[in-house]
Amino acid sequence: MAPGLAERYARVRGALPPGVTLVAVSKKRTVEEIRALHDLGHRDFGENYAQELRAKHPALPPDIRWHFIGHLQRSNARHIVPIAHLIHGIDGAELLDEVEKRAAALGRPAQVLLQVHIAREETKHGLSPAEAQEVAGLWARGRWPHVRLRGLMGMATNTTDMDQVSREFEGLSHLHAELRSALGEAGSGFDTLSMGMSGDLPQALAAGSTLVRVGTAIFGERD
Ligand SMILES: *Cc1c(COP(=O)(O)O)cnc(C)c1O
Repeated sequence: MAPGLAERYARVRGALPPGVTLVAVSKKRTVEEIRALHDLGHRDFGENYAQELRAKHPALPPDIRWHFIGHLQRSNARHIVPIAHLIHGIDGAELLDEVEKRAAALGRPAQVLLQVHIAREETKHGLSPAEAQEVAGLWARGRWPHVRLRGLMGMATNTTDMDQVSREFEGLSHLHAELRSALGEAGSGFDTLSMGMSGDLPQALAAGSTLVRVGTAIFGERD
């Protein structure tokens, strides 16, 4: 028999060093599947699509920490900022302006990561390292007072060349350390490096990931 959810979950957990956050990627999973993992004690879940998150969120326990890991459109910020514990996919100053506006209206800070484009594919969203540096600088100078910049997120190239994947993760890790020290005192909360999925976990962990986003290895193949 194929391993069940509890066994797959335990396997993934067991592969993570202490201190690394596991986000269970629940896109295209039912509310029942999410609840089953919640029943096992898991609390961090990741969704890619604003509509899907908005639909599931009210049907699930309020103690879930929702990670928005997809591409956030400005028009969706007003729906996502109130729900999300951490928004991983910030890829521009204009989007941060919108997040700032929504967080200010709520009267509480929004936690975000800057998504950096590290893959070879053109299709993956994200800032160049230079752009990320620029946005981090604007943030440090106070442009978005209701935004808490927590770190960086990246997706490696979808390839079987794992040396390539490792190089991309190491590059992101290096950029994270660089920005953190450049931010000085403001960099103390810049502690999150979101990288690694089912197919490239060991490479991401070896490069210093602090948060992994895992779907398939926990829930099984998606339709
Ligand atoms: C789907 C997705 C994941 C999880 O991918 P798996 O291969 O199922 O582990 C992680 N991060 C992002 C941004 C995703 O879109």
